[in-house]
Amino acid sequence: MTDFQLYQQILGLEEPWVVESVALKPQEQEIEVRVGFTDTLWGCPLCQKRMHVHDYEERRWRHLDSCQFKTIIVSRVPLVRCEEHGSQTVAVPWAEKYSRFSRLMERLAIDVMLECSISGACAILRLSWDEADGIKQRAVKRGLARKTPEVMARLCVDEKGMGHGQNYLTIVAQVREDQTTVEYVGEDRQQESLDGFWESLTAEQLAGVEAVAMDMWEPYVQSTLSHVPGAASKIVHDPFHLVQYMNEAVNEVRKSEHRRLQAQGDDILKSTRQLWLYGMENVPAQHAQRFDEIKEINLQTSRAWMLKEVFRSFWLCPGIKAAERYFEKWYGWAIRSRLDPVKKVARMCKAHLGNILTFFVHRLTNGPIEGLNNKIQGLIKKAFGYRSKERFKADIFFHLGGLDLYPAQ
Ligand SMILES: [Zn+2]
Repeated sequence: MTDFQLYQQILGLEEPWVVESVALKPQEQEIEVRVGFTDTLWGCPLCQKRMHVHDYEERRWRHLDSCQFKTIIVSRVPLVRCEEHGSQTVAVPWAEKYSRFSRLMERLAIDVMLECSISGACAILRLSWDEADGIKQRAVKRGLARKTPEVMARLCVDEKGMGHGQNYLTIVAQVREDQTTVEYVGEDRQQESLDGFWESLTAEQLAGVEAVAMDMWEPYVQSTLSHVPGAASKIVHDPFHLVQYMNEAVNEVRKSEHRRLQAQGDDILKSTRQLWLYGMENVPAQHAQRFDEIKEINLQTSRAWMLKEVFRSFWLCPGIKAAERYFEKWYGWAIRSRLDPVKKVARMCKAHLGNILTFFVHRLTNGPIEGLNNKIQGLIKKAFGYRSKERFKADIFFHLGGLDLYPAQ
C-alpha cells in the first residue's frame, strides 16, 4: 500500500475525492495530506442543485495526529455559483462547513474538553485557546439546535452566582431517573428570568409539568404560578435549600455564642464551624469524640444543631399526614428555643408549608439538585470563575445540557 492509499483509507475518502500527495514536514512536525478530486459535477451545498465549478479556494483542516505529527488536510475546494444561493464552497466530507478541523478532530477535542479544563485540552491537543473555544461554542450551538420539544415532567429551578460579585443566572434542569440535564439558563434571578423558560414551552409542555422544585424565592414562585397550570400543587420547596437555611441559622447561633463565650475567656467553640454543619451520620471519625463532648455541654449551639438534625429527619416521614404532625411538633420546639435565627427559619417554613408538604406527593429528592449545584460549582472552580455570562452559560450547556455535541458523521 502506498502512503496515498493509506491516507485515502484513513480519511475514508470516496469518489470524487482522492489523496494526491502526502508530505512529511519534520521541521514543522506536520504531515500534509493534499486532497484533490476527479472531474465531476458539483452540487450547491444548500440546494444540492448540480452545477459547474467557477473557481477554487485553497483550505486547510487540522485532522487527528499521525503519531507525533500534526496532520493537516489541504485541498483546493471548488466554488460553485448558485443562482439562488450565490457563490458557495462545496461541502467536503471530512469537515463541517466553516470549520478548520476535521469532524474526527472536533470529536476528539469535544471528548477531551468534557474531561478537563480548556487549557488542559489545549495542551494535550496542541490547540490555541481560541481554537478550542471555537470548537466548544460550535458544539453547544449544534447541540441546542438539535433539541426537539418534549414534555418535561419533573424540573428544578435554581439560581447560580458566577463566582464573583452578585451576578446571577437562573437555571432550569430536568430531573429524570437516570440523569439531570440543564434545559434553560436565564439572566439574573427575577421573575422575568424564569418567565423566559416557561414562555419557550408549548401549551402541551406546560401542561405536562408535574413538579417543580425550587427554593422559597418569591420571583420564581410567582413566575411558575402564572405560567404552569395547577402550579400551586406542583411547586416543591426542596429539602436541599431548606436544610441550608437551618445550617446558616446554626452557624449564626454559633458565631454569637462563641463571641460571648470568648469574652469570658471560654474557647470551647473555637474552630467548630464545620462540625455543626455535618449531618449526624457524617461527622468524620477523627472529630467524633470532641464533637460528642461539646454537644453534651448545654450550649445554644448544641440546641440549634439538634433542631437542625430533627428538621432533616422531617423528610423521612412516610406521608403527608405524618409530615404535617412532625412539622407542628418541630415548629413548636423551634419557636420556644429562644434562638432567633432558628425561629426565623421556622416561621419562614410555616409560611410556605403548603409547598413544603408537596414533597411528600412528588418525592422530588435532594440528589439531583445537590448534584447539579456541585457540578456547576466544579465548573466555576475549573474555570477560575467566569468573567462573561455567555461563557458561563455555554459551559453549563456543554457539560450539563445532555446535548448531542458532535459533528454529524
Ligand atoms: Zn443553491
